[in-house]
Amino acid sequence: MPSIEVQTIESLRQARPAFWGGRGAGCRSTLHLEPAQVQQAVDRFKRFAPLLQRLFPELQASGGRIESPLLTVPAMQQALGLPPAMGQLWVKADHSLPVAGSVKARGGVHEVLEYAEQVAQQHGLLADGDYAQLASEQARAVFARYQVAVGSTGNLGLSIGVMASALGFQATVHMSADAKQWKKQRLRARGVQVVEHEGDYAQAVAAGRALAEQDPHCHFVDDEHSLSLLLGYAAAAPYLVAQLAEQGLVVDEKHPLFVHIPCGVGGAPGGVTLGLQQAFGPHVHCFFAEPVQSPCFMVEMLAGTAALPGMARHPSVYELGLNNRTEADGLAVPSASELAADVVRGFLAGVFTVEDETLFRHLALLQQTQGLQIEPSAAAGFSGPRALLESAAGQDYLQRQNLLPHMQNATHIVWTTGGLFVPDEEYARFLARGRELLA
Ligand SMILES: *Cc1c(COP(=O)(O)O)cnc(C)c1O
Repeated sequence: MPSIEVQTIESLRQARPAFWGGRGAGCRSTLHLEPAQVQQAVDRFKRFAPLLQRLFPELQASGGRIESPLLTVPAMQQALGLPPAMGQLWVKADHSLPVAGSVKARGGVHEVLEYAEQVAQQHGLLADGDYAQLASEQARAVFARYQVAVGSTGNLGLSIGVMASALGFQATVHMSADAKQWKKQRLRARGVQVVEHEGDYAQAVAAGRALAEQDPHCHFVDDEHSLSLLLGYAAAAPYLVAQLAEQGLVVDEKHPLFVHIPCGVGGAPGGVTLGLQQAFGPHVHCFFAEPVQSPCFMVEMLAGTAALPGMARHPSVYELGLNNRTEADGLAVPSASELAADVVRGFLAGVFTVEDETLFRHLALLQQTQGLQIEPSAAAGFSGPRALLESAAGQDYLQRQNLLPHMQNATHIVWTTGGLFVPDEEYARFLARGRELLA
């Protein structure tokens, strides 16, 4: 086994920052999704835009489109000590996504819309193709007979709960004990039923799924297996492609695009990676960022290879002696989505892990340098560029992919995945903690 992998596994087991580079021999996707499938999700968002514009005043200006800006962040790049020779740093600002306040607005909203479309069609509500009329009393009365349920540590629950209740569905969110109080309150204020479960995220999901299975009028959003969620995230790609073009940012063999995106079960980063892979092929390099105690996706990628002999396929982080404890909401996930893993394995650029303290440091740095307000999980991507440049495994990846001569032309996008709805007092605590660490 090459010594680079030995180092990666050592760091992984000791909960120190680790880096794994993908696209090696034997990295093959076992599930191939077509561009047409992603396009269907893009089209669905378009069809529903007039309805969304009607249901959410904050979507008035965008015509019902749920999108975020692509921001240049030169002061942050400098504060991170990233030299111009490594390319240019940008932020894809999903922390400001309307409706759900996180990247979950993409996948979660898409799945609820797909279900609503199905129910509406069954009841002949879309006979004339007018989606805006799904806001009518008649349509809402139909939706009220159906339930949408989800198991979540928070942000997915927020997105599903808000969207489902806005359409008139009954909405139930099963939460783990560690879910934040304010997220529960926000949901309850919207009429969403919040059920609290002992144990971790995976247990909340299992309990929610079991309850939903007994009810044919209940649709359970399954974060670990849902194709609709994944495609909703993937639908982010075409708009980002347009944003890059608008900024004059070229992506090709000599102008690589690096995307650094936080990973929980892997649905959000997996979907985004799929969409960008379809747009840019091998010239986009997506890296997933995970907490050092919850590196489920890295473990999933390494399991079954020579690096982790004897480890079962689809292991959990507990099997490596890690405790899955992190302050990064939404990233405390013990085992990865096999769906996301099967889809991205063949083209994923890599996975790196980040200590919680670094999340808080980068959260504070981003506020100081650019005035952007994100939650701790959303800061995970900022460690990516340095990890890539400074770790042996990162250098190895750049070399294997023949990227070293082109780094000064590189575009690095850090995907900030959440933050808009974090209450002020809560954010003030995050910021204070980060500032203390920076001092
Ligand atoms: C859910 C979430 C992620 C990761 O998404 P997964 O689909 O679980 O991998 C990242 N950041 C934030 C803020 C999230 O809420």
